[in-house]
Amino acid sequence: MNNQTDHRIHYQYRNEQFEKMPRRELEAWQLERLRETAGFALRTPFYRKRLKEAGIQSPGDICSLGDLKRIPFTTKQDLREGFPYGFLSVSKEEVVRLHASSGTTGTPTTIYFSREDIRKWTGFVARCIYGTGCTRDDVFQNMISYGLFTGGLGFHAGGEEVGMLVIPSGSGNTARQFRLMQDFGTTVVHATPSFLLHVEAKMKEEGVDRDSIKLKRAFAGAEPYSEDTRRRIEELLRIDVYNSYGLSEMNGPGVAFECQAKRGLHIWEDGYIAEIINPDTLENVPDGERGELVLTILCREATPILRYRTRDLSGFYTEPCPCGRTHRRLFRITGRTDDMLIINGVNVFPSQIEEVIMAMREVGNNYLIEIEKDGVLDRLTVKTEVTPDTFMDDTRPLNALKDKIRRTLQASITINPRVELHESGSLPVSEGKAVRVRDLRPLDI
Ligand code: AMP
Ligand code: ZN
Repeated sequence: MNNQTDHRIHYQYRNEQFEKMPRRELEAWQLERLRETAGFALRTPFYRKRLKEAGIQSPGDICSLGDLKRIPFTTKQDLREGFPYGFLSVSKEEVVRLHASSGTTGTPTTIYFSREDIRKWTGFVARCIYGTGCTRDDVFQNMISYGLFTGGLGFHAGGEEVGMLVIPSGSGNTARQFRLMQDFGTTVVHATPSFLLHVEAKMKEEGVDRDSIKLKRAFAGAEPYSEDTRRRIEELLRIDVYNSYGLSEMNGPGVAFECQAKRGLHIWEDGYIAEIINPDTLENVPDGERGELVLTILCREATPILRYRTRDLSGFYTEPCPCGRTHRRLFRITGRTDDMLIINGVNVFPSQIEEVIMAMREVGNNYLIEIEKDGVLDRLTVKTEVTPDTFMDDTRPLNALKDKIRRTLQASITINPRVELHESGSLPVSEGKAVRVRDLRPLDI
């Protein structure tokens, strides 16, 4: 099944044969693709060493899907250490694009795509979009950031593949978003759930008549949200909301998506092998139990990644989906096993903030990161002490310092935080492990 013709048929969206493939055939396909991916991986020094240690010298040493368990996990730290080209498995001439995701230390994780990789990725995103009922008659406004983040270009290409009219509006600027919706009759949008709530609030505030827009659906992802939030957006905006899950290490969007049954996200098992592990014991957990999602990509030659610890908490539904697709469904992702924060859809590690503020001589030793809700959006406040010799009554240098911290942080984490300066020794000191992050957002998962 691994000749080019099969590939070409396969990675077209609208392919019931693959979406409803009997499990046995799907697993046979996975085994073929896993061997192929291991072949790409063996070209990189990192995996050559790792796979050799696991007794895999060539793709043929993988005899069954069970052999995957012999391969050690790959972590974000591994990818970071491999920056910039440690995981590249084709020649640079074959690479047509890169995407990157934030790192804890300023070193991003970079993913490279060949032309073929982009085509396959696009096919998966198109499959997700089409599965929600969109057709070429739809007008799709992609209200998410473009650039290194995969959500922009990933959905853009998928939308075009389905034949929709794609409006690359990007995120922010609600007034312009409304104008575009009205001018071009937008029927479907992609955004973070918090931005969708913001859009609704702004619509009311600016007196935009709901009947002046034709919106029917939204794809919402990039950050955790609850079933209640989905329902709220659906009711307020009078649309259908579909949960969209992906991560840049696994291409980006198009990894798992809800079908019209809206009961869990089908993980496209012809493109990915999904496992759920106990994050403490690292053992696989039985279907139906919660744990950390581990993913192996089967559809990318330029940057193969095997058994990637996503840090996302999920699990598998055990019963089949009424839609007839055979690909298993994931529980809504409820959080993470590491300290990564998702603030208005942007990934931020507390260590990135620490690195910026602690590099400034004027900043004291203690700091606190607070995240709360400001209306429907998240607001980040960085509270930091100043050095003991700082004179707190002199506001001019303090304001200048505040501004410098704010600007430097924004350049590093792409979020504009509020900055508060506190007198030396005035921020709470915890007795045990320092509590540097206070996430005050209500947990409504
Ligand atoms: P990035 O690599 O920047 O695209 O970020 C990927 C991360 O965003 C994932 O590992 C998740 O933690 C989070 N994420 C993406 N989509 C969802 C979703 N639908 N629900 C919850 N978290 C999500
Ligand atoms: Zn389904």
